[in-house]
Parts: sequence; structure tokens; C-alpha cells
Amino acid sequence: MSTIAAISTPHAVGGISVIRISGEESVKVASRVFRPVSGKNIAEMKGYTCCYGKIFDGESELDDGILTVFRAPNSYTGEDTAEISCHGGIYVSERVLSAVLSAGAEPASAGEFTKRAFLNGKLSLTQAEAVADIISAQGEQFRRCAAEARDGAVFRRIGAISAELSELSGELAAWVDYPDEDIADVSEERMTEVLSRCLEGIKEAQESFYSGKILREGIPTAIVGRPNVGKSTLMNLLAGCKRSIVTEIEGTTRDIVEETVRLGDVILRLSDTAGIRQTSDIVEGEGVRLAEKRMDESSLVLAVFDNSRALNEDDFAVTERLKNAEGVKAIAIINKTDLPSELDEEYIRKNYKHTVYISAENGSGIDALREKCEEIFRTGEIDPSAGIIANQRQKSCLDRAGRSLSEAMSALKGGATLDAVTVLIDDAWNSLLELTGEKATEKTVEQVFSRFCVGK
Ligand code: GDP
Repeated sequence: MSTIAAISTPHAVGGISVIRISGEESVKVASRVFRPVSGKNIAEMKGYTCCYGKIFDGESELDDGILTVFRAPNSYTGEDTAEISCHGGIYVSERVLSAVLSAGAEPASAGEFTKRAFLNGKLSLTQAEAVADIISAQGEQFRRCAAEARDGAVFRRIGAISAELSELSGELAAWVDYPDEDIADVSEERMTEVLSRCLEGIKEAQESFYSGKILREGIPTAIVGRPNVGKSTLMNLLAGCKRSIVTEIEGTTRDIVEETVRLGDVILRLSDTAGIRQTSDIVEGEGVRLAEKRMDESSLVLAVFDNSRALNEDDFAVTERLKNAEGVKAIAIINKTDLPSELDEEYIRKNYKHTVYISAENGSGIDALREKCEEIFRTGEIDPSAGIIANQRQKSCLDRAGRSLSEAMSALKGGATLDAVTVLIDDAWNSLLELTGEKATEKTVEQVFSRFCVGK
């Protein structure tokens, strides 16, 4: 394999930039651009050692920095690797990279270092995907899931199911292929037992995809309430910037404004909706319908009430609708607590399990709201070490495996030949091997690594 190089740090000004070189010739390439001040011979450097020196492009000195050497197989890619740390200016690091390329390395493509790690057996495909997830993680829970997956949690979860299928498939094959030999037959009971257990395992893994989605993408959250209660102000407060139009004329937020925000440990995918009220205005009416639909589809609803005004029909309508929304968690937000209270708190307390008092205008109560969200979405029930299915690719492989196994179960019950059942079990097994990358097609591998940035 060729020797590749890229800047592994962000394309931005910083304290340090790292130029990574990987491949058989990496140390040789490094020695053409890097001269240790100690006069040390780079070719003799052992793995995990470094030295200080000057960086050259031909004969012109570019910078000074540190060279770290990793020896195969003990490097990220599993190949000999050299990393040059130089000053973190965009121009300087690009010049160093250009010198490295002139010295014999080829530019690395997106994710190529990680792809090599995969091809060299350092990482499974799910582990490689987890590396990309670690990089893009925005919250602690998601980071933990990705870190566990990086350590092989998904691989182990799927591997356990694969192992059962492979064993069963082996037994069946021996029995089918050598009918005359004295091989114990595989009872229908045993097959049913193994297949049910595997199906159950697949189902649980499929479910983990959905809980993981909340960690990754956030909780679909609708901010609802009658006009002028302060929905847009709350949205802006949460988003930390002005996005919705805030006005004193009722009914101005007609479209749905969306924003993803992090509130403590949880990520909220917020939609600020039109004020919900009875209206004869067609455009506003459409906004109200959209708001109601969004309310039904969300996992969390922040139902906002105006502390300074008495509750009215529109507030009751919001509350009634929420009562009928299945699976939606609701928090009553009593806003404008900086103004004297005119609202019937008793009604709110009776109808809502969770109530938070805030002033969206001055930001008070936002900590209580954060704590409440964290309490409701204690993602603690999610056990990252169980291996959370991380993306649609993995989920599609699981779905295929699940379908094949269900068919195998039906075939078995319907009295199909063992040959036919074996084929279906093998199909399921292959789908799982594709998930972990043990049998992934080149196209799948390409797709996975195209998600990465250059330098990773
Ligand atoms: P929406 O129609 O529910 O989106 O309401 P807005 O966010 O547009 O707010 C309506 C009016 O209430 C604006 O004049 C806001 O400045 C005001 N407002 C919002 N939150 C508060 C608050 O906590 N205290 C006070 N005093 N006024 C608020």
C-alpha cells in the first residue's frame, strides 16, 4: 500500500498542527523533511518515541517541531506511521504537508487512515463508524455510546448473535451434507430455540437504534401555547440567539422555526410553533394545524402559559390535546413570572405532571427547566456498553437479518426442507457479517469512510 499523508488537525489556526504520514515509507518520507537537532538517525527510531527538530522543504527551513514515530502494528492504522507536529498556522501546516508530499507521500483521501486501520484488522467496521461518531459527538451520553462502540460493544453484541447462527448453520450443513454419517440430528426444538433467541437479540438491537437516535439527534420537542405567552422568547433563550420573530402582535409566528439546542445532558430538537388558538384567518389556521400536528409527533412538549394572564379557552385546548397525545411527555412552563400572577396554578398542577416556572425574558428558571428535562429523559436507562446500533446502515443490515430469521422460523414451522431453512439462516448470518464488516462489500466500505474527514 502507498504511503499517505494529510493534516490531521482542523483547517484552522491553532497552537499545533499535526501532519500524519502512514505506510511502509512513512519514516523514510519523514526523514526527508525532518532533521532532529540531536543528529539522531530517524530510521532507527523505535515506536512511540519522538524527537525535536527542524522541518525543511528541500533546503529551505519551514518550521521547527516534534516528530513522533509509531511502528507497525502498534499504530492507529496498523502501519509504520510518522507524525510531525508543527506550529498551528494554516499556511505553515500546508507548507509542511506540501513538503511531505514532495518527499514521496500521496495525499490521503477522506477517512483513509481509519480505512487502513479497518483493512489491517485494527478496527471492525462498527468500530470505525464509532470513531466518526466520537468526532461528531455533541453530548456526553452520545459520546459514551460512541466510545463503547469504538471499544467493540456493537461488534460484540452482533458477534454473539452471529456466533449462534454460525454454530447452528454448521450443524445443519454437516447433517445435510453427510446424511449417512453418524451425526446427531439437529432437533426442530433446538433450531426453534436458537432462532427465537437470535430474533429476540436482533429486536433488542433494533430498539437500541431508536434510543440512540434520541442521544444523537436530540429529542423532538415542540414549544406550544396560545399566542403571546412567550414561546418565541423561550425558543430564543434556549437557542441563545434571536431566531423567531418576537412581537407584541398576537399570531406572528406562523411557520415552524427549528433549532437544535443542548440543555445540560439532553439535546432538544426544538420547534417553535404558531400560537394555538381558534382563528378564522386561513394562513394562521394552517399554522395552528401544523403546530397541533407537531405537538402530536413530538416526544416532548413544552406547553407555555402566561403567568400574567388568566387561563382561557386556548390554554384549555392545548391541555386537552396533550392529554390525548400518546407517548408525548409534557412540561407546563409558567412564563412571565417576573409579572404578578393572574393564572390558575391549581389547574396547571392538576393537569400536568411537570411544571416549571420561568421568565423567558430575563432567563430565570432555565436551570429548573434543564433539570426537569434531564430528569424526564434520564437516558441512563440506555446502557452504552450493550452496544447501541449507531446508524441506518447498521439498522438496515439488522432488518435484513431479522427478516431472514423470521422466514426461517416460518419455513421450519411449515415443514420446509432443512436445506431451505439453512439458506435463510445463512442469509441472516451474512447480513450480520456485513454489519460488522467481516463480509462487507467494497461499496459499503467506501460509503462508510466517505463520511470521514481528510486526516482521520
Ligand atoms: P409567542 O407569541 O408565544 O411566541 O410570544 P413572544 O415570545 O412573541 O412574546 C410575546 C410578548 O411577551 C413579547 O412582548 C415578549 O417580550 C413578552 N415576554 C416574553 N417572555 C416574557 C417574560 O418572561 N416576561 C415578560 N414580562 N414578558 C415576556
